[in-house]
Amino acid sequence: ERPTFQAVDPATDAPGRRYEGHTAEEALEMARAARRAFEDWRRTSFADRAGLMRAAAVVLRHRQDEFAELMCAEMGKLLADGRAEVEKCAVGCEFYADHAEAFLKDEPVDFGGPKAKVVYRPLGTVLAVMPWNFPFWQVFRFAAPTLMAGNTAVLKHASNVPGCALAIEEVFREAGFPQDVFRTALIPSGAVKALIEDDAIAAVSLTGSVEAGRKVAAQAGAVLKKCVLELGGSDAYLVLDDADIEVAAKTAAAARMVNAGQSCIAGKRFVVLASVREAFEAALAREMEAYAMGDPRAEGTKLGPLVRTADRDGVHAQVRRSVEAGARLLTGGQIPDRPGAWYPPTVLAGVRPGMAAYDEEVFGPVAAVIEAADEAEAVRIANDSAFGLGSGVLTGDLARGERLATDALEAGMSFVNQNVRSDPRLPFGGVKHSGFGRELAAFGLREFVNIKSVVVA
Ligand code: NDP
Repeated sequence: ERPTFQAVDPATDAPGRRYEGHTAEEALEMARAARRAFEDWRRTSFADRAGLMRAAAVVLRHRQDEFAELMCAEMGKLLADGRAEVEKCAVGCEFYADHAEAFLKDEPVDFGGPKAKVVYRPLGTVLAVMPWNFPFWQVFRFAAPTLMAGNTAVLKHASNVPGCALAIEEVFREAGFPQDVFRTALIPSGAVKALIEDDAIAAVSLTGSVEAGRKVAAQAGAVLKKCVLELGGSDAYLVLDDADIEVAAKTAAAARMVNAGQSCIAGKRFVVLASVREAFEAALAREMEAYAMGDPRAEGTKLGPLVRTADRDGVHAQVRRSVEAGARLLTGGQIPDRPGAWYPPTVLAGVRPGMAAYDEEVFGPVAAVIEAADEAEAVRIANDSAFGLGSGVLTGDLARGERLATDALEAGMSFVNQNVRSDPRLPFGGVKHSGFGRELAAFGLREFVNIKSVVVA
């Protein structure tokens, strides 16, 4: 049975293009074709693969405006943000074109006589299950290192971004990659299990919710295939008493409002020392209100719609539950009277354990302020989360910030006085329910390789 995928414009709820998907059999055949393509692809040189990856960067830049419009139409991303995302993908392709060979260089080992070395060899075809929030970057962050390592790939993208999913396959085709090295399967999530179980698939990478991660990891575990999981986050930023509060509030709002708040590494909980709490709350509400809702296609708009009306309703329910449990609404919290997935910048203060804004990930433009009596309590609150993806420290004392970031915060990433962001030069990933494994840098490249020991006596 052939599935269909209906794009919906989040700004208006109007239906967009409808896409015919692939049947389960077609998806399996795609995976097997990608596995066959692996036999030649693995034998290409780094230089050849790098040349193709640089060509992919050229295609991305050439079609930047078109892809930004596609993201806007399918998931509501601001056009300006979409253009920046496409550029980031191009930079990611170039980064791995430049560095993959060195990252995967043979490593001699002193074995006391016999020659010994560690070599990195590709695994085969890797299945990527990806989310809609950064529809291009999430995929390129996976694909650039994976393909440069000599693997081939099959993408199952989120059901609400079918146009982006197909466009990404086109980028690789247009760049001149051999047929079947990168394929997009337009399938519903129910068709993923059969792919994971098929011999054609060697490993899985998933970015998305904890629930999806749990299911896919269990399916991969049942057939003993490796997986890398990038799941949610509820990043805490410590706001210390020595911080410049105006600057801290600006950084906090920027961290919270990345992609209309729909980012796994958006700052979500702001843990503020009691002595600066009132000043911070006032400054944060002001900074958040500056993110006025507007047309995602207009230059200068800082907040567009959320991804879907149902998701917006979910965010609003989390705000309502928090308020009913005693949180104070400083700004926002009202659904505007218009069609589309709109939600205003919202700040909740007095957030405590047991409230949705404390315990759950809020995937929208909603900041939670939590008071802490002192530094030790602030650290305890920041770590009092099922998640451990990013974290931050806002402080006037860099040594204090570095100490807390390095050894106190339980997270895969800790930034002092800057909002957490992904960068090809730094490994990206989390601990606890934020997942396991790493993407980007050399670490990401080495996730889907056979780390092989060779001894020649
Ligand atoms: P999902 O986790 O449902 O979707 C992510 C990807 O996983 C999609 O391709 C989806 O396909 C697929 N998927 C979902 N369930 C399964 C399954 N059982 N087996 C195989 N594949 C599956 O994210 P949502 O869009 O529903 O967002 C919900 C929450 O996820 C957000 O509120 C946020 O907490 C988190 N999230 C985190 C992201 C991150 O960057 N870490 C990104 C997006 C969401 P399909 O679309 O067809 O269901």
